[in-house]
Amino acid sequence: MKSVSLSRDNLAAIKAQAEREYPWECCGFVIGDGAVEEVRPIANIQNEKHAADPAAHPRDARTAYLMDPRAQLAVLREIDRRGLALKIVYHSHPDHDAYFSATDRRQACAFDPDQPDFPDTAYVVLSIRDGRFSRAAAFVWDAQRRDFVETELREY
Ligand SMILES: [Zn+2]
Repeated sequence: MKSVSLSRDNLAAIKAQAEREYPWECCGFVIGDGAVEEVRPIANIQNEKHAADPAAHPRDARTAYLMDPRAQLAVLREIDRRGLALKIVYHSHPDHDAYFSATDRRQACAFDPDQPDFPDTAYVVLSIRDGRFSRAAAFVWDAQRRDFVETELREY
């Protein structure tokens, strides 16, 4: 299983964002190629959705994230324009462990339940406890098992 790598600075930036946005889940992308690796934090609009329609969005941002679609699209366009890849989709779990939940899997496989929308993209989940970073874990798609499996998260 291939490992997932993140520069020390980028991992620190993501941890800081997750602590800053606690008790809400934070989310974002890491984009790049062999030479470039950049973090693109995305606003979590789950609280707005929950406030506007709690029946359709029963969870608030303590236990869910929904990326601002316009910000998300802007990053995907930037990737195309610059010829980069979507390396990582990350989000945090306030006061929960760094595991890949059934909801996370469903969101990663939005178009087809047995195929991720971005099969070559890794997912990183950060556990934040009482506002402080606790653990980060990386998950990649295993085509044989047809599921996400945890793999090594390397800091460089
Ligand atoms: Zn999650």
